[in-house]
Amino acid sequence: MARVEYSFQTKLLHNQHKVDPTTGAVSVPIQHASTFHQSDFDQFGKYDYGRSLNPTREALEDVIAELEDGLKGFAFSSGMAAISTAFLLLSAGDHIVITEDVYGGTFRLVTQVLPRLGIDHTFVDMTDLAEVKQAIQPNTKAIYMETPSNPLMKVTDIRAICELAKEIDAITYLDNTFLTPALQKPLALGVDVVLHSATKFLSGHSDVVAGLAVVKDEELAKRLGFLQNGFGAILGVQDAWLVLRGIKTLHVRLEQSQKSALKLAEFLDAHPLVEKVYYPGLVSHPQYQIQKDQAGGPGAVLSFELADEDALRTFLANVNIPVFAVSLGAVESILSYPAKMSHAAMPQAEREKRGIKNSLIRLSVGLENADDLIKDFSQALEFVCEKQLVLQQGELQ
Ligand SMILES: *Cc1c(COP(=O)(O)O)cnc(C)c1O
Repeated sequence: MARVEYSFQTKLLHNQHKVDPTTGAVSVPIQHASTFHQSDFDQFGKYDYGRSLNPTREALEDVIAELEDGLKGFAFSSGMAAISTAFLLLSAGDHIVITEDVYGGTFRLVTQVLPRLGIDHTFVDMTDLAEVKQAIQPNTKAIYMETPSNPLMKVTDIRAICELAKEIDAITYLDNTFLTPALQKPLALGVDVVLHSATKFLSGHSDVVAGLAVVKDEELAKRLGFLQNGFGAILGVQDAWLVLRGIKTLHVRLEQSQKSALKLAEFLDAHPLVEKVYYPGLVSHPQYQIQKDQAGGPGAVLSFELADEDALRTFLANVNIPVFAVSLGAVESILSYPAKMSHAAMPQAEREKRGIKNSLIRLSVGLENADDLIKDFSQALEFVCEKQLVLQQGELQ
């Protein structure tokens, strides 16, 4: 009988870990054991020690591999643990070409840790293919993408970068945290290693810190598996279970949040006090078409600028619904301030060079009613307007 290929939405629930084969349980059992009895002196079983392999973590690794159309998934104790371990595929003397508005933690790792290990880097605007080409050196062994980027939502042409990487025999990494496989399948576009902060949309409830990596090549899977076990930054079983539970509702959450994000982006774009909106779902976004061609949607994260830091302070002091916090991709809407949060590790001069102004705020849209969010933002922006008028009157006097 031919195997029916189900849609992504169905696969979130109807996958190889839908029921536990030993009990029929419809939720993956949490296996706490750190070690496993071996009944044969010469031949050990599949599981021997929890760092190397654990059935609960393995379930999550299987599920993410299936959802990303990959061969093998790996679960780590955080997104940064996944990214750090994946960088260990490189060696001293290697060079990385990396997108300039990369996640702040990745920036810190690449600029402050990898150079000590002899791994060098060049930051580029990944939307500019000529610049990427120019940054390639004889020892370039990897190209690192994050798209849409954080926090400026620049979109990289994934296929074009992968082609370039193949020509020089470099591996490609892609941080798929913002879109997840629900909206973007990097492996199918030619990427070698997909990375996730599963802390965000995949788990979705602001209650777990986790990271994932997925590869499609068998040799690469062996190397990354070796590093996961060797470096040891594995995900604990309770957290693996929480990510598995979060994944079941990924489709509905992301679909709803994305719909609201577009509504909010359009509202902000039309608002006189908003200087600029960064969202690949707006037709005016410079890579609108590339995003449409390579992904199922623009996602649920956007950034926008007000006139200055002072206006931003007033806005934040008066907005009620979103939480003001680090992180994104949750059921509740989250406003974050890149300059002091996700990109605090980046010196101000570096931030400004990249266009991450002190008047920029990032919004991750949750599951609240979009009209309520718009109402809330409207009233908070009215305070900004009033304050501006008071200041102007002060200047006139
Ligand atoms: C949060 C985040 C990370 C880091 O993940 P942690 O789980 O916090 O370690 C990496 N990349 C992106 C895009 C992120 O948003």
